[in-house]
Amino acid sequence: MFPNFELCCSAFEKYGLSLDRNIYDKLSVYCDFLIEYNKNVNLTAITDPSDILYKHFIDSIIMVKYVDIPQNACIIDVGTGAGFPSIPLKIYRPDVNLTLLDSLNKRITFLQLLCEKIGIRAEFIHGRAEDYSKKPEYREKFDISCARAVANMSLLSELCIPFVKVGGMFISMKGPNEDISLGLNAIKLLGGNVSRETNYSIENEERRIVQIEKISQTPTKYPRNSSQIKKKLL
Ligand code: SAM
Repeated sequence: MFPNFELCCSAFEKYGLSLDRNIYDKLSVYCDFLIEYNKNVNLTAITDPSDILYKHFIDSIIMVKYVDIPQNACIIDVGTGAGFPSIPLKIYRPDVNLTLLDSLNKRITFLQLLCEKIGIRAEFIHGRAEDYSKKPEYREKFDISCARAVANMSLLSELCIPFVKVGGMFISMKGPNEDISLGLNAIKLLGGNVSRETNYSIENEERRIVQIEKISQTPTKYPRNSSQIKKKLL
């Protein structure tokens, strides 16, 4: 069972976040539905409710502490999986406009059912990021693209930066071990610039948010198609 309201409030407080009953109720339904659905469809390896609270929900929402997310921002979550980080973020910040993208349809189906249950409006895309960011209706149309645990910095930049408007940002949520400098060439070629790196920990596990501002348009040759991307990183 999901930890009770008081326990969740203390957990949030520990990370400098507040929690109200409405947010709690939605997170609680999310947790129960995730555990239930995960019995038949592989969505996450984290299945203990307390771990879900810290390693999925707080780990996603903590973004609001370190990143200045404009009111009503249009956000695309690339490789969202079971909805992380953007669904907890939308529960916490209902003003943001959400687009959820994943190449696995079973995950998109889960997200559609979940959003219906908790009353969240979002756009759902089943497809590959490198295909969708070439489409005029998605290219450089978002204030923010974000991704957690999807790929290395170079590949991820090619998947995420083309979605972002000049003046917007790409937020990458990562573990501690990756050498971000290996992605710097890709970031530059794609029109980005690392503006901030923040290290923090969630229940003694090291985490990092890399914030990349979009300073110029992405050249039309990017992203390359998926076989080229796999063959050679930028
Ligand atoms: N972001 C979620 C999280 O933090 O729990 C899911 C992470 S999971 C390890 C990576 C997800 O990215 C998978 O759901 C996978 O289907 C998706 N993915 C990988 N490459 C993708 C691509 N090129 N376009 C869209 N989705 C992709």
